[in-house]
Amino acid sequence: MNRKKVIAGNWKMNKTPSETSAFIAQLSDKVKQTNDIVICAVPSVCIPAALKTAKRSRIKIAAQNMHYEDNGAYTGEISANMLVDLGVKYVIIGHSERRQYFGETDTTVNKKVLKALKAGLKPIICVGESLEQREMGVTTDYVRYQVGYALNGVTAEDMKNIIIAYEPIWAIGTGRTASNDQANEVCNTIRKVIAEKYGRRIANATLIQYGGSVNVKNAKELFSMSDIDGGLVGGASLKIDDFDKIVNYNK
Ligand code: PEP
Repeated sequence: MNRKKVIAGNWKMNKTPSETSAFIAQLSDKVKQTNDIVICAVPSVCIPAALKTAKRSRIKIAAQNMHYEDNGAYTGEISANMLVDLGVKYVIIGHSERRQYFGETDTTVNKKVLKALKAGLKPIICVGESLEQREMGVTTDYVRYQVGYALNGVTAEDMKNIIIAYEPIWAIGTGRTASNDQANEVCNTIRKVIAEKYGRRIANATLIQYGGSVNVKNAKELFSMSDIDGGLVGGASLKIDDFDKIVNYNK
């Protein structure tokens, strides 16, 4: 199955709107030769600047989070429709930092996924085990559970708009990457869950990324594994030279 690769930078709480414009302008030049999907998930206040600068390039802009309600008394939150109105196409949902620091649960992740799809956004759903869970040997069971929960109520038709990012928590921002085989094995498990739920054809077409200390040195090998369709990149997506090399990993 010839799936596209999707390489997304997750900027987290980094870069001002002015810095965003400068970075996206530089990146626009670097992505001219790639056929892959390149996404920058920028802080919400940087989205207008990012969209404006990315307009004539192939870079897509993502939000890092959204609320599952349409509107209401949710101070500080942003709705799916607000993102759509700006022109955003992708949204990260359930990043482990949101689960750890902001009370995101599998229930809220599922509600957000359903709302994002309804609004016309493509969710990048993050799943992944903690170090403790890996050491206990429950990685497969836990990731199966997370994926099943996140996709509850998602139709076969919707699946073409879903991206899953397998991000072992112990590998995020730690410099400790999952081995190629470890990462591929869990991405394969995720594909199996999708096959059980929606059939082989849909599973084979679904984009599944790996995330967790992806860098210039390991990107090419990770992205060439059979079940890994690109990466969700944190730290290395903030440096233009590094992200250039990661996006152009096959050059
Ligand atoms: C992330 O934020 O999703 C991530 C994978 O971060 P890093 O690449 O820095 O580990």
